[in-house]
Amino acid sequence: MNERTLCIIKPDAVGKNLAGKILAHIQEAGLRPVALRMLRLTQAQAEGFYAVHRERPFFADLVRFMTSGPVIAAVLEGEDAIQRYRKLMGATDPGKAEAGTLRKLYAASTQSNAVHGSDAPETARVEVAYFFSSIDQVG
Ligand code: ATP
Ligand code: MG
Repeated sequence: MNERTLCIIKPDAVGKNLAGKILAHIQEAGLRPVALRMLRLTQAQAEGFYAVHRERPFFADLVRFMTSGPVIAAVLEGEDAIQRYRKLMGATDPGKAEAGTLRKLYAASTQSNAVHGSDAPETARVEVAYFFSSIDQVG
């Protein structure tokens, strides 16, 4: 099924000038960016985005990390884009990520793990709309 999913290149990766390499990797894997923007999240925006993790012990650190510098958000389109992009990202903990995945290649730790990807169709819908209106998305 043709799907759209939300990708975020997190502050650690943007800060290390890895955004170009990460986008190239995504495109070489056959996922097509249909919307793209750079922004710096406010605390409220980061808290809202990761609201499902509100009760987790790492929440405050996660919000601090996600607001520590600019991020690049993109909508990726393709056949089974949600699961394909999750597989391309690799495990949350880069130490457990498969060889060749974005997190294995570019992530420093479980928190500073370079990229975000929506995990299911409903979250993809909500997360894409969190960053982009329909008019921002090509096609
Ligand atoms: P994301 O939602 O960012 O794509 P994910 O789905 O692989 O990542 P989640 O369990 O949703 O992982 O956690 C969201 C983010 O919170 C992680 O990507 C990471 O940045 C941070 N995080 C998760 N678990 C921990 C932890 N144990 N310690 C520190 N940070 C964590
Ligand atoms: Mg997640």
